[in-house]
Amino acid sequence: MNKKGVVYLIGAGPGDPKLITVKGLECIKNSDTIVYDRLAGDRLLAFARPGTELIYVGKSPDRHTLKQDEINQLLVEKASKGKTIARLKGGDPFVFGRGGEEAEVLSEAGIPFEIVPGVTSAIAAPAYAGIPVTHRDFTSTLAIITGNEDPLKDDSSIQWEKIATGVGTLVFLMGMSNLPNITKRLIENGRSPQTPAALVRWGTRPEQQTLTGTLGDIGEKANRAGFTNPAVIIVGEVVSLREKLGWYEKKPLFGKRVLVTRSREQASALSEAIEDLGGEPLEFPTIGVTGPEDYKLLDQAINELAAFKWVIFTSVNGVAYFFNRLRCRHKDIRELAGARICAIGPKTREALENYGLLVDYVPGEYRAEEIIAGLQGKVNAGERVLLPRADIARKVLAEALTGMGALVTDVTAYHTIMGGGDSAEIIRKLLNGEIHVVTFTSSSTVQNFVKMLKFPDLKTLLAGVTVACIGPITADTARDLGLKVDVVAREYTIEGLVAAILEYFRQPHHVAG
Ligand code: SAH
Repeated sequence: MNKKGVVYLIGAGPGDPKLITVKGLECIKNSDTIVYDRLAGDRLLAFARPGTELIYVGKSPDRHTLKQDEINQLLVEKASKGKTIARLKGGDPFVFGRGGEEAEVLSEAGIPFEIVPGVTSAIAAPAYAGIPVTHRDFTSTLAIITGNEDPLKDDSSIQWEKIATGVGTLVFLMGMSNLPNITKRLIENGRSPQTPAALVRWGTRPEQQTLTGTLGDIGEKANRAGFTNPAVIIVGEVVSLREKLGWYEKKPLFGKRVLVTRSREQASALSEAIEDLGGEPLEFPTIGVTGPEDYKLLDQAINELAAFKWVIFTSVNGVAYFFNRLRCRHKDIRELAGARICAIGPKTREALENYGLLVDYVPGEYRAEEIIAGLQGKVNAGERVLLPRADIARKVLAEALTGMGALVTDVTAYHTIMGGGDSAEIIRKLLNGEIHVVTFTSSSTVQNFVKMLKFPDLKTLLAGVTVACIGPITADTARDLGLKVDVVAREYTIEGLVAAILEYFRQPHHVAG
C-alpha cells in the first residue's frame, strides 16, 4: 500500500484525563496506532477503538524504553504503512516534549502530521495547586525553563543573570534533581531568598502534592520531605495566592482512587460522582450483561402481557432488556396498558419513565424485602405478576409473592457474565497502595471480584483499602467472602453509596495520611 499515513502529535495534558482537548480525544478515538509516554495518562487509552495498537515508549527520566531515534523511526515506519497514528505526549508536545524533533523527522520523511496542543503541566500543575502563573498585581511575565540542565556548568544556555530578576514567575520542569543548584543560581544572581516558591508533584492527579516555602528554604524542605519528580518548581510572588485560591486539594475525595466494579454500562453514574468530588474513579467491571441464552419464556410472557396485573422491575438492565425484546417482537408500551408497574428504586423508575411509563409503586427502601412489605394488600390472590429479571437474581421476591397467592412468572430478561477486566493490573495497583476505596454495588460484584482476582490472601491485599457496599445484603456477601466492610450505604442507591463514603472520610480519624 502506498497510501501515506498521518501522525497527530497530541498533548495529552498533565494527568487529569479530562484535561485533554476535544481534538486530541477525537484523534485517540480514530487512530490505528497509539504511541504514548509514561506521563500521558493510561486512562485516555480506554477511549481507543477496540483493536487499536498501543505502543508504550516509556520516557521516564532515568529509563528510556525506546531511544528518541527509535521513537522517530517507529512513527515514520507506521505512517509509511498508511496508518493513522496518535502520538500522545504528556502536557503539551512542544513544551519540553521533544515534539519539535519528532515533527522535523516526519517533515523530512514527507509524512503528513498535525500538532494538537495540550494543557502543559507548567500551567496546569500550579493551577491545580491554586497558583495562577500570572496575575496583574504580582507579575506580567512568565518563563518556562528546563531544570534538566546543570545550572552550575559554565556554558549554560540559560542566562541566569537575566531570568533571575528579569522575569516575574519562573516555572521549571524536570528540575527536581537540580533544585538546590537552581535556587542557588537564582539567589546568586540577585533574586531575593524571600521570594515565595512552590513545588507541585503529580499535579492534577490524585497523588498531587504541594510544598511551599521560599527560594531560600524550598530546597531544604524538599530534601526533608523526599520530594521528587515529576514536579514543577514555581518561583515568584504569585505563589502567595495559593492560600486563598487552593481548591483541588480541598475537594472531599481528593487523593482517593476509587475502584468501580459495576458493569461498564452502569459504571458512569458512580464514576462521575467520584470525579465531581475530586476523586479518581478506576473502572474494573466485574459484570458484563448480555441477552438471555433462551428468549422462549420472556417471549411467552410478552405475548401474554395483557394478562398481568403487575410487572415488577428490579433493575435498570431488566428494564432495558425487557423493552428491547418488546421492540424486537414488534410491540410497544401499549401492551402494558392493563398492568400496574413497580420499580425497585429511583433509577429503575427513571428508566421506565424514559419509555413514557409512570410507575405505580416504588418502595421506600430499595430491596426485595421492602417491595414485599409494600405490595401486601396491593397484590391479590390469583393475580398474575411478571418479574423480568437477571438470571442470578435472588428468589425471595418471587417466593413471597407466591406466598400471597399471586401467580408469579419469573423470567430471565438478561444474563450476567463475568467482567473481562485486567485482574493482574488491579492486584498490582492494590499492592502498590494506588487504590484507596473499593466499591461494591451488588452481591454479584463482590462474588465476581473475588473470583476474578483469585488472590490467595484478600484480607492482606485489601488491608489498607476502604471497602464500601451499597447495602446490607452486599455487605453480608462481602463479609461471607472474608472481606472487612468499612462503609455500608444507608440509602441503597449510587447517591447513597457516595454519601456514605463521604461521611466515612469526613470522620477525623480518616484524615488523609
Ligand atoms: N510536555 C510536558 C513536559 C514534559 S517534561 C508538559 O507540557 O507538561 C517532563 C516534566 O514535566 C517533569 O519532569 C515535570 O517537571 C513536569 N510534569 C509533567 N507532568 C507533571 C505533573 N502532572 N505534575 C507536575 N509536573 C509535571
